Amino acid sequence: MREYDAPTYPGSATGSRDQLAIRRGNLTRILRHIRTNGPRSRAVIATATGLHKTTVSSLIEELLDLRLVREIGMDHSGAAGRPGRSVALSPDVGAVGVEINVDYLAVHGSDLAGRTIFEHRTAFTNVARGVEQCLDDITEAARQALEHLRRCGVTPVGLTVAVPGLIDVARGVVVLAPNLGWHDVPIVDRLSHGLPPGLWIGVDNDANLAALAEHTWGVAAGTDNLVYLTGEVGVGGGVILDGRLLRGADGFCGEVGHMPVAPDGQRCGCGLIGCWETKVGLAELVRMATPDAAYDLDRQVDTDRISDPQERVAEVARRLAAGDRAAVDAVAEIGTWLGHGGAILVNLFNPRVIVLGGYFAELADHLIPAAQARLARLAVASPVARCHFVASHLGFTAAARGAAGVTLDRMIEHPTTVLAAAGR
Ligand SMILES: [Zn+2]
Repeated sequence: MREYDAPTYPGSATGSRDQLAIRRGNLTRILRHIRTNGPRSRAVIATATGLHKTTVSSLIEELLDLRLVREIGMDHSGAAGRPGRSVALSPDVGAVGVEINVDYLAVHGSDLAGRTIFEHRTAFTNVARGVEQCLDDITEAARQALEHLRRCGVTPVGLTVAVPGLIDVARGVVVLAPNLGWHDVPIVDRLSHGLPPGLWIGVDNDANLAALAEHTWGVAAGTDNLVYLTGEVGVGGGVILDGRLLRGADGFCGEVGHMPVAPDGQRCGCGLIGCWETKVGLAELVRMATPDAAYDLDRQVDTDRISDPQERVAEVARRLAAGDRAAVDAVAEIGTWLGHGGAILVNLFNPRVIVLGGYFAELADHLIPAAQARLARLAVASPVARCHFVASHLGFTAAARGAAGVTLDRMIEHPTTVLAAAGR
């Protein structure tokens, strides 16, 4: 990656490097401050960050040159004195997030100012055709989104792929994604060969990325203690405690779908028996509520039969509205098991909310009463009284949105390096 051609400073080489590091750190501080608090004047930023006014002015000139910020109207929010021009994050740079799942591919593109520029989700039937085909499809979807951003005048700095599985984030490797049938897939390296050079490419767990999206923009924005559950064929969890995403020793924290809850239950995609996702995953809902359209998770059948998960859920909702007995019993059963696993999570993590994503959100009105009742019966009394299931508003695109967001976060942490690599 090409280094940014930074301003030079007098003094020893070591001193210059230290000063450069401090200056870069301060660029990040200012970007973070504006991202968290919205547009602010130079004077207000100086007061809030503790940096000297002339330093802030100089740093903002550099950020203006980099086209990472722009000046908008006047800021009247500050302390006494003349109001200054507000500095806002720029819509000139952006990032892409791609989520691959068992039965859909979701793509999201947004700019640093927070606008959604591109959002697309398609039913996906290529999991059965193997890893290489999937990687080609991800590459093509990413390429289209990147081109769309460029056509809109936005320079993309990179992309992150959300995958339902165990991810080695540092090495860019999918260690295991049971429901995709992937083992040790070096996805970042592979995608870097098919996409334009200079882009920063990352990979992370889908539930972690969705949890970050919920924490930043979603129904739980401002809640520092939450568990996010992906409601897909697989069920993953993203855990945010005290405002920070939990990762664990190997980065595999949150594999809640494989909590053993039913020792005499069905075999899971991971090979074990009675995992929580065999009780609450979308495949189990579909099997119980619409047995005529059940998933074939062994993927031995014509893949054209597999339809978009939202269509499957809509069919369940139609049968619920018609009072279909199998559908009514299915959501009651799933809701109860949701509360069963939720009780374990509440006792472990003490979250304020459990955010239901994916299909759980679509059927939340049917699932939450049974889940909340079971939770109240099983969890330790005091924390459960203040923990509620809530439905995500971000739907099936939460992980892709979070993936674009973490790519922009990375750019904020290393603004000059990432921009230089992206050709800016
Ligand atoms: Zn399992």
